[in-house]
Amino acid sequence: MMGLGRSVILKTPEEIKIMREAGRINALALDAVRKAIEPGITTAELDSIAEKVIHKHGGISTFKGYPGPYPYPATITVSINDELVHGIPGNRKLKEGDVVSIDCGTTYKGFVGDSAFSMCVGHASHEAQQIVNVAEEAFFKGFENMVAGKHIGDISSAIQTYVEGYGYHVPREYTGHGVGRQMHEAPQVPNYGLPGHGMILRSGMTLAVEPMILAGTFRTHVLPDQWTVVSADGSLTSHFEHSIAITENGPIILTDLVG
Ligand code: MG
Ligand code: MG
Repeated sequence: MMGLGRSVILKTPEEIKIMREAGRINALALDAVRKAIEPGITTAELDSIAEKVIHKHGGISTFKGYPGPYPYPATITVSINDELVHGIPGNRKLKEGDVVSIDCGTTYKGFVGDSAFSMCVGHASHEAQQIVNVAEEAFFKGFENMVAGKHIGDISSAIQTYVEGYGYHVPREYTGHGVGRQMHEAPQVPNYGLPGHGMILRSGMTLAVEPMILAGTFRTHVLPDQWTVVSADGSLTSHFEHSIAITENGPIILTDLVG
């Protein structure tokens, strides 16, 4: 899910506090999904778990009804193996060894928390475990560069360099993004770029940074359901995301459970 905003909306410390609450609810939903992931569970069951947690804490799903080819029909996206992002929950059952990527958005008091993770289902191949790990590690390579005065390209380049160091690829059509009252605000935060290029980072920016990784190619296509994005060569993929605030004291993750 991507959108095009025009100007960056800086957030006040009070707004960032609300985003932290939205982010924490989103983290609770993802944590409940993570704990439920096992061979045999359907992706629709995972969706229902996330929705219940979000509602219990007074949030609403940011994804459900999100504009696209048709309104997005669920609370989470569940993307399995070659599915990179935007997989729609349904009757499909998870299998031992699958790589499953879960993305979720929560709106609370008018602000959005957006985050995602990948994990292996049960015992998995070394290749599956590695691509899962590299997405999370790539996120933190980007995160280290989220300092006022640096550039968007410093985040992008850190992610791309790390991912490509494993021989993996990053997509060109899907990027991280500003996040706030809308899930997708300016600026875009690509997973590829050059250090020292792009917009200068400022205190009060809130960005969703989300490495997406493909094992065999940077090319993707969209399935006939018009939402699910897959690797063009059928190779494995993974995804990891947090929403982050850039502050005078450095970057703060808004969508984790602690802090
Ligand atoms: Mg997301
Ligand atoms: Mg996002």
